[in-house]
Amino acid sequence: MSSPIRPKKLIIAVDGPAGAGKSTIARLVAKRMNFLYIDTGAMYRALTLKALRKAVDISNAAQLTRLAKNTRIDLENNPDGSIKVLLDNEDVSLDIRKPEITKFVSDVAKVRGVRKEMLHLQRRFGGRASCVLDGRDIGTVVFPNADRKFFLDAEFKARVSRRHKELKENREAVTVEDVKKDLKNRDTIDSSRKCAPLKKADDAIYVDTTRMTIREVVDTVLGWVNH
Ligand code: C5P
Repeated sequence: MSSPIRPKKLIIAVDGPAGAGKSTIARLVAKRMNFLYIDTGAMYRALTLKALRKAVDISNAAQLTRLAKNTRIDLENNPDGSIKVLLDNEDVSLDIRKPEITKFVSDVAKVRGVRKEMLHLQRRFGGRASCVLDGRDIGTVVFPNADRKFFLDAEFKARVSRRHKELKENREAVTVEDVKKDLKNRDTIDSSRKCAPLKKADDAIYVDTTRMTIREVVDTVLGWVNH
């Protein structure tokens, strides 16, 4: 007897620098396709939150690696398409967006041992169902055979003003200068680290979102997904 034919699971990778619109677009595309949305940045943020709470030395790679091995991180999709982030079973979805987490997350994410743990988890999550994953190394390292790969980018000024608007909406007291400093710092660490740096995969579709509306970017991505 032949086994039933299962529909192929699709993996869509969305990479790019902070503020290029990845999470908004990945979330909306996942919703439209009825796919899971996997925010890999949220996983690094959750580990950073735990490291700060436990006063782990952020410059100590061995301690951070040990922490990553002994931490449970889970992602759940809310019905509205947003994501619930569980750190050792505690809902930390809001805490991980605070500026003090953003300040240290790239230093945590550059540690090879930390990335190794996250890679296993991300591949496991990606095996659950068809999904859209957003991050920095999804198309290059985590899922190099993804069915579609996108690299979303935008001019620095646009990225700063989007991120500033988002933080203001969350009632965070940050200035444009703070946001500029944060993006520059994270861009530098994320693209220059030795392990899985931020870069466009050769076969990724490059989308400059600077002058595009959210709807235009979603339609562009969906157009390629259904191509
Ligand atoms: O996407 P988000 O800005 O929330 O990611 C926070 C940080 O997590 C990034 O600046 C980067 O340092 C790290 N990250 C990463 N690899 C990923 C996703 C995020 O290094 N796949």
